[in-house]
Amino acid sequence: MGHEKLYFKAWFQAFWLLYFKTWLHAFIWSHEFLHFQREMCMQKSIVVKILWGGLMRIELIQPLHAVYGKLGKRESFIFKPAQLTMPYLAALTPPDVEVSISDEMVEPINFQKEADLVGITFVTPFAYRAYELASLYRRNGRTVVMGGPHASLLPEEVKKHSDAVVIGEAEDTWPMLIEDFKNNRLKPFYKSNSPELHSIPHARRDLLKREKYIIPDIIQATRGCPFSCDFCALSSIYGKGHRLRPVDEVIREIETFQGNTFIFWDDNLVGTPRYAKELFTKLIPYRKKWLGQGSLTITKDRELLELASKSGCIGLFIGIESVSQDSLNLVNKGFNKVDTLKYDIKKLHDSGIIVWAGMIFGFDTDDKSIFKRTIEVAIKAAIDGISFSILTPYPGTRLFQKLETEKRILHYEWAKYNSEYVVFIPKRMSPEELQEGHDWANKEFYSIPSIVKRLFKSRTQLSLNTRLNLADRRYSYGRFK
Ligand code: SF4
Repeated sequence: MGHEKLYFKAWFQAFWLLYFKTWLHAFIWSHEFLHFQREMCMQKSIVVKILWGGLMRIELIQPLHAVYGKLGKRESFIFKPAQLTMPYLAALTPPDVEVSISDEMVEPINFQKEADLVGITFVTPFAYRAYELASLYRRNGRTVVMGGPHASLLPEEVKKHSDAVVIGEAEDTWPMLIEDFKNNRLKPFYKSNSPELHSIPHARRDLLKREKYIIPDIIQATRGCPFSCDFCALSSIYGKGHRLRPVDEVIREIETFQGNTFIFWDDNLVGTPRYAKELFTKLIPYRKKWLGQGSLTITKDRELLELASKSGCIGLFIGIESVSQDSLNLVNKGFNKVDTLKYDIKKLHDSGIIVWAGMIFGFDTDDKSIFKRTIEVAIKAAIDGISFSILTPYPGTRLFQKLETEKRILHYEWAKYNSEYVVFIPKRMSPEELQEGHDWANKEFYSIPSIVKRLFKSRTQLSLNTRLNLADRRYSYGRFK
């Protein structure tokens, strides 16, 4: 009996050991397998992940230019209307894919966030930061896709820093790219064919942190511009012509806006007057306020200007570009007339619209007198605000080709292609004189006497106007010492 007990105990222990070992192996094996599966998913095996019922995740990133990173809280606030590209890409993403947006302009990027695919969009001066981010993500096994103006203008350069490049627009490329990625057959380039703008989805503004933006409600009604100014990269990105979204579709999207003020992110909203008139007419009953971008041609069409005002337009960014008619004619923008500028601005003010002008220094006909002349004209005409730029030959433009042929490009440091630095040899002054003149004009225009004189003459949207001027003054005095 004693032996039987011992045998039974020994058998029981052996059985238990065997059972435990098998269980332990099974546990370790399953744990390792799960780990392996996760690794496979983290690295580019999206097919495995989807087969195992995993959800594909996309992180869309808007990088930050170093210059804005240095701005104080109050100065940078003014530069923070929400951007449209990423909310729009998110809207074009199939519903079975989880998508999130990170805008480095308003918060630091969380690199720990899980993502199978990372999309980065950027303009030329943001290129280095975009490449830095791409390199960080790729080192961690993420697939990186890049798009936006710089990628569309220089796809070969951008491809060196990414797994795929989107050239041009997203409607006819983004869904295809995602499908290819899911099936492990990503192509190096996806080129858009300037698609029609009907039935496009509403931008996913719900993915933005509304409280971080000065104006979170944004929309685009048209794409491109009917004009073709030599320095403008628009036709190289969007092709020639002005494409229009059906007015009723634009209105339906505006109906979803929570705020009372919104932005039209069009390059030239009034480029096709017939369309703009229909849009503005249908917008009137909503009693919203809006800001946008348009050409000075709006002042030549009384009905268009009246409708813009009635529909809630309170401010327009207008490319006035120069107070020298020779310069305007030279760069194919002779439709802006210096002689009538003062009256054109007055018409806008009389309609309750403030004018933020784009002004460029460094055209081949500009000499050192251009800076003082510009300030004099701007104060006389009571231009409400000006973004002063140094002529910048963006890659892909006619201007870039011309200056490169003439061997006048000084360098290709993209971070300085932000319109605040001289990157080429001007014709009628030295690069240093151009830089100094630009910096001087900035400070002069935003000096207190200039602000007071202009506000007094303009008397348009005074509260908004004053805040914008003071913010721009802080920016100009901070940047152009
Ligand atoms: S009018 Fe403005 S948007 Fe149109 S081509 Fe000229 S600079 Fe570009």
